[in-house]
Amino acid sequence: MKRCSRGWRTLLECVVVILVGGLAIRGINRWLGDEEPRVERIIYMIGDGMGVAHISVAQIAQDYKPLAMERAEYVGLCKTYSANNRITDSAAAGTALATGYKTNNGMIGVTPDSLPHPSIREKAERAGMATGVVVTYPVTNATPAAFVAHVDNRHKEDEIATYYLSNELDVFMGGGSKRFDQRADSLNFFDTLRERGYTIAYSISDIENVSEGKVALLPTEDSMPSMLSGRGDFLPEATAKALEILSNNAKADRTGFFLMVEGSQIDGKAHGHDLEGMIAEIRDFDAAVEVAFDYADEHPGTLVVVTADHETGGLTIVNGNRRFDLHDHQVDYAWTTGGHTGGMVPIFAYGTGSEHFSGVFENTDLPKIMCRLLGLEE
Ligand SMILES: [Zn+2]
Repeated sequence: MKRCSRGWRTLLECVVVILVGGLAIRGINRWLGDEEPRVERIIYMIGDGMGVAHISVAQIAQDYKPLAMERAEYVGLCKTYSANNRITDSAAAGTALATGYKTNNGMIGVTPDSLPHPSIREKAERAGMATGVVVTYPVTNATPAAFVAHVDNRHKEDEIATYYLSNELDVFMGGGSKRFDQRADSLNFFDTLRERGYTIAYSISDIENVSEGKVALLPTEDSMPSMLSGRGDFLPEATAKALEILSNNAKADRTGFFLMVEGSQIDGKAHGHDLEGMIAEIRDFDAAVEVAFDYADEHPGTLVVVTADHETGGLTIVNGNRRFDLHDHQVDYAWTTGGHTGGMVPIFAYGTGSEHFSGVFENTDLPKIMCRLLGLEE
């Protein structure tokens, strides 16, 4: 009987030691940050040319009704200069945001020595994740190209298109079909993509019932129309469709996804000093941000990072040189250049892991942090 009770006591002591030990290890893990929820999906959203003043003007235009971007949980700032210029272009900035390397203006996915470096999207694809890009300029334009291709000159768009064959994106959506079926080399890339299992679509309604598999949606030969020329809800709708397809593909046999979405035409409107057009493009991009933030709410493990490649137009809100009546707010504004500027741009982060994007960053830091969170090689 005595032996028996000593046995029970030893067992009880063992249980207590295991419980206390387990709690201590959990506590240490939490302290070390090992218990952070895992980021499995990233939506990387780039407003081309979108500076803080562009967002501020859009806020004023809707009487400070908050934009979706303002739901951000963490906010940061990003330095945009390129390897050879204080003022970057979209090629060098896209390369920095995609690969984590600064390069010279005009170069795509390569360092100034022309050496290629994989983008975060390519690393995600190689790790078995589902990936995609959604834009409103041609899919061969600088920003999407930086996530797909490696060329020393952004204008080699026929060559950039070949990377949509040598890579295997689950979805790519945007303008620029002429680089696929009206090529200088007379090849028809749509035939090749079809052979590889892609659904080729020319409007969102073509893929209404498509919810998985590989999709190339290219409604226009060149850029898509601007918002004021009737583009409609392409960007938010394409973003939602891409998220649906990537989710299902990732569910089937993959390990999460990476999607890049660009508000491509903010830049063009700012180059042209078209304030109303620019506001319409910001609102459209913001509608896509809302789709992404809502998706993150419904799918824990999703990180959304919204930023810009650079500011365009040197836009400033002043008591200035031209009056623009924004719904009776009598706002004055000025554009100070027809080109880009060298100021920092905002970062809005939302969802799992968003706390890593509070602070001042180099544009090259962003993909490195994202790779680390996804467990990909930096
Ligand atoms: Zn530009």
